[in-house]
Amino acid sequence: MCIFCKIVNKEIPAKVVYEDDKVMAFHDINPQAPIHILIIPKEHIPTVNDLEENHKELIGHIFLVAKKIAKELGVDEKGYRMLVNCNSDGGQEIYHIHFHLFAGKPLGPMICK
Ligand code: AMP
Ligand code: ZN
Repeated sequence: MCIFCKIVNKEIPAKVVYEDDKVMAFHDINPQAPIHILIIPKEHIPTVNDLEENHKELIGHIFLVAKKIAKELGVDEKGYRMLVNCNSDGGQEIYHIHFHLFAGKPLGPMICK
């Protein structure tokens, strides 16, 4: 079972900020910004490449959850960044699809070195 499935199953701990029947959100263990949250579906979907038509509602739901978390953390007005990495060139390290939410400082332009 992958590490994020273990978080979903509460087999390993996480600082959870949001949970419902389809989605979980928790603080990244190695934050890259003052606020760094990971939003994941409970379903094990490895990468963006594995998304199917039937995941459309789930992915839309994840963005609505992101909006809710940003508001609750008080960063909705100042702003935040959502990011998804796919496969090795995309920098993906955990093969359970996840949406990064970064906030808490001006993040500047996206630089892909
Ligand atoms: P990615 O490179 O897009 O696959 O991002 C994986 C992210 O998961 C990294 O930002 C890690 O710091 C984070 N991460 C790894 N293990 C854990 C964990 N046990 N709890 C929370 N975040 C984690
Ligand atoms: Zn998984």
